[in-house]
Amino acid sequence: MATPVSDSRKRLVALAAMLAVGFMVTTLVSYFVARDSLERHIADEMLPLTSDNIYSEIQRDLLRPFLISSLMASDTFVRDWALGGEEDSARIQHYLREIQQRYGTITAFFISDRTLNYYHPSGIVKTMDPEDPADAWYFSLRKLANDYDINIDRDTADRSRLAVFTNYRVLDYEGRFIGSTGVGLSVHSVIALIDNYQHRYGRRIYFVDRQGEVMLHGRGFNLPKTLRDRPGLESLVTQILTTPSSSLIYRDSAGDEVFLNSRLVPEFGWYLMVEQHRDQGKERIAVTLVINVLISLGIMTAVLLVAHFTQRGYQRRLVEMATTDKLTGTLNRQAFESLFEHAARATIRRDSTMSLLAIDLDHFKSINDQFGHQGGDSLLKGVVGLLKEQIRDSDVLCRWGGEEFMLLLEDCSLENALQRAEQLRASVKAFRVRYGREDIGVTISVGVAEYRPRETLEALVNRADRALYSAKRAGRDCVRSA
Ligand code: GH3
Ligand code: MG
Ligand code: MG
Repeated sequence: MATPVSDSRKRLVALAAMLAVGFMVTTLVSYFVARDSLERHIADEMLPLTSDNIYSEIQRDLLRPFLISSLMASDTFVRDWALGGEEDSARIQHYLREIQQRYGTITAFFISDRTLNYYHPSGIVKTMDPEDPADAWYFSLRKLANDYDINIDRDTADRSRLAVFTNYRVLDYEGRFIGSTGVGLSVHSVIALIDNYQHRYGRRIYFVDRQGEVMLHGRGFNLPKTLRDRPGLESLVTQILTTPSSSLIYRDSAGDEVFLNSRLVPEFGWYLMVEQHRDQGKERIAVTLVINVLISLGIMTAVLLVAHFTQRGYQRRLVEMATTDKLTGTLNRQAFESLFEHAARATIRRDSTMSLLAIDLDHFKSINDQFGHQGGDSLLKGVVGLLKEQIRDSDVLCRWGGEEFMLLLEDCSLENALQRAEQLRASVKAFRVRYGREDIGVTISVGVAEYRPRETLEALVNRADRALYSAKRAGRDCVRSA
């Protein structure tokens, strides 16, 4: 037969299993959904957004020298001075020094195509030489269809310094090429810029030119300097270098999937490349998965605890309801019967004595008649409260029916039982209950019987009842033994 305890354990286990399956399914489903949408999110939104952000910051920081040299190239002073025969080089030097100081560039220069002089804030640094490979950029700029060219080179005035140069073609008023202006920005500051972006966005950021040569990169760049040499990317290079922007995924030499977003910076003719390993996002999703599992476990534990305690409280109330009398809070007959069995066995085992008191309220009908049923009820409750105060923890009080009670006294001989019955009788006689404006009192008659080993409860109760009957016959408010 299933006991209430094993039933409730089964219910808890079933609840736990249901919760576990429910949480597992939702957690796993959300994990896979999140993983798929993360990939789409990285490729479609995050990387393009990053490159948008970087692009706009580059426009602020890196395009400044481009704007300055464009301004210089269209400056009428520069053109007039060159066209006027380059007299008084102090004037152009002063102009270049002003540019350098005002805009904080590392260099500012003007090259005249007529004399091939390279003017610098410190003077004429050199004369451009078509045979010198270091000057090749100038002679190609001369033939360029574009207005400008950007290159990374050593500074002509200081060969130890690497710089990003923005070189602008200077034209006379008829549109003929008369030289070049330009400013240089230290590569260190550009690299610091990239490092800053890489750090801020947690991605790899670098620039390649239209041929796919890596032009600028931040710290920790350990990949081949040409896109075509990059394992996994060979087949995609043409696509990248022929479209203004692209978003794609490739597998690198380590076998990791990499999201790549490229975007042409038209002023430079360079591509801004932003890359992110798929793992980075996955890690975060794995962390989320762990957090979800922990939250699920927490909720599960909480629900199970609540269920456990609610059920226990509920059961306790059921047991209470099944074993106690509602009006007086004493045990009912069924509960009394099982406690009697228990007490009887203990008495025999200990070779002790035990006695039963049958207690009945005297003339209770007339109390009901006089004060109404409710008055009778409060008196009944009051008497029970009084009896409970006087009995020991080991004594068992039971409402046998109506206004008759059984009181089982363990380890109590007939003689002691008679004594205790007498005490109870006297205290009830002296007791009053307040009902409305009246004080109600009552007396009790008590029949006492000592337990005979192996005697049934029925037999013991019969003997106590008979003793009670003789107490009634003797005029009530007294104690008699069986
Ligand atoms: P006596 O025992 O002294 O012979 O007289 P009695 O008037 O008490 O007679 P009896 O024990 O036969 O009757 C008990 C009465 O108690 C009957 C019933 O109306 C009343 N009674 C029984 N249970 C309750 C109860 O729960 N509340 C109230 N108010 N009255 C009850
Ligand atoms: Mg009575
Ligand atoms: Mg009675």
